[in-house]
Amino acid sequence: MNELLVFLCDGAPVRGEIVSISTAWQAVLERRNDPPVVRQILGDFVGAATLLSASLKFDGTLIIQAQSKGPIQLLVVECKSDLTMRATVKLSVDPSEISPTASLAQLLDVENTGRLVITLDPAERQSGQAPYQGIVALHEHRGTVIKPVTSAAEAITLYMQNSEQLDTRIWLTSNETHVGGLLLQRLPDSGGHAHLDPQIAAEGWTRIQTLADTITNQELLTLSPKTILRRLFLEESTENGVRSFPPRPVHFSCRCSRAKVADVLRMLGEEEVESILAERGSVDTECDFCAKAYHFDAVDCRQVFKTDLLIDATRPPSRGH
Ligand SMILES: [Zn+2]
Repeated sequence: MNELLVFLCDGAPVRGEIVSISTAWQAVLERRNDPPVVRQILGDFVGAATLLSASLKFDGTLIIQAQSKGPIQLLVVECKSDLTMRATVKLSVDPSEISPTASLAQLLDVENTGRLVITLDPAERQSGQAPYQGIVALHEHRGTVIKPVTSAAEAITLYMQNSEQLDTRIWLTSNETHVGGLLLQRLPDSGGHAHLDPQIAAEGWTRIQTLADTITNQELLTLSPKTILRRLFLEESTENGVRSFPPRPVHFSCRCSRAKVADVLRMLGEEEVESILAERGSVDTECDFCAKAYHFDAVDCRQVFKTDLLIDATRPPSRGH
């Protein structure tokens, strides 16, 4: 099951999402060889990325990046608004050196250097939608005490508090085969959704959170979003019902291509590429996300730079020179 369900509550100013990912998550993992403790953090962020991108109000990509001087040097999860996603982790140490009980802070916030960066990248930048980037530290300063962030859900919550005006709650869990997540967002009391008395609205938000708090990781990992919805909000009466939209599929999909690798070679420059060729006979690279191998021999490389010249020659003369 790879699906995301969006629901609205009639008796409370709440929009929610439930996600359950199995084969798409297994597709990420089968290309990777990370220790379980790292996979779990990656899985939780995969759940977060799908939930956050499903609430994007434009066509684009949501990118979650966590970086640190710790054993997890870089973690990247990308999810497009059509819910295709890919994910990767870069470790700075050998996987065998990572303790099976390492905490998120030990992996991602060594010396308090951990940062969570969330980028909303619109597909059409010209349409007036600017890219947005929010950054939060993976620890909190409380007076003189530095409190480490203990979970991906807590990290995302910190980001939301810093960037969104809407109150948000998020539950995330993952194992070797499944990712599960639940998100609640408090909508404005009036406008768009419904016109609720402020007190009824406040009570509704509290009530829905209390019901959602009864969710267990086991349920998030084993039940379908529809079953979870029914189980959580059974107590909402029919006139106070919960309406859901048709579930949307979540897929694993990598955007890498030979053309993009060629672009990277052009950025490296002909001289650099020639020196790699002289040393190794070919340029070989592997996609960080899907492990697809790309092989450029000397003829391929020459073609890369030749094509560039051809494009230059056929480009209309630029103005203002
Ligand atoms: Zn790829």
